[in-house]
Parts: sequence; C-alpha cells; structure tokens
Amino acid sequence: MNYEQLLDEAYKKIKKIETNERFEIPLIESAIEGNKTIVSNMQAIASRLSRDVEHIVKFLTRELAAYGLLKGGRLIFNTKISQKNLQDKLAEYIKEFVLCRECNKPDTQLVKKDRLLFIKCSACGATHSVRAKI
Ligand SMILES: [Zn+2]
Repeated sequence: MNYEQLLDEAYKKIKKIETNERFEIPLIESAIEGNKTIVSNMQAIASRLSRDVEHIVKFLTRELAAYGLLKGGRLIFNTKISQKNLQDKLAEYIKEFVLCRECNKPDTQLVKKDRLLFIKCSACGATHSVRAKI
C-alpha cells in the first residue's frame, strides 16, 4: 500500500467512527384521525433501534396511559396524542432501554437474566440493569 492508499484507509476509518457516534433519535411519524392517533412507522423505529416492537409499544402505552394496538407495523392509539408527546416518550425509552450509560452508544441489546433485565453494550462491554417491568 502506498502513502495515499494508507491515507485513504485512515479516512475511511475516521468516517466510520463518526457515523457510529452520531446517533439520531428516529422521528415518529404520527397522524391524528378522528379520535385516534396512528404512528405509521412503529415497526421501522423498532428495527432501527434493534428492539422488540412490543416492548416499545408497552412502554409508550403505559407512559401515555393510552390503549394502543399494533397492526401491520403501525401503532394505533384510541386517543389523540401529539407528535411531540410521542417523540418525548420515545426519547425517554431510548435513554432508558437503548443507550449505553457508559459510552452513550446505541449498540446495545437487552438481556434477560432470571427476572432481571440488563442492557449489554456491544461497543464498550458495559452491562447495567434496567427495569424489567414496564
Ligand atoms: Zn457502552
């Protein structure tokens, strides 16, 4: 490898790290129809966060004290909820169940052990407990 190729490789690596660190909270796409609120990209958000969509739905319905039904990747609430309210709750979910508390990266997974739930970080290896019941 010549010098320029080496430089190229180095730049690629830097770029990769940058994209890993820039984590943006997915935007909830919601619409109010009559007395219902429909989140059209619920499944997409769950996939993006590598979380079970049911887990996120459970959190949102509990936190918003609203009944929500998952249907074909969309989440339908039986009441009117603003996009901002949903977005705030999603941010809380991410803070509690997705981001590593050590390094703040989203490359984590939820691990169940006995009756406890842990977040295990793939980036730094840290493990910490989160509430198992939501
Ligand atoms: Zn970490």
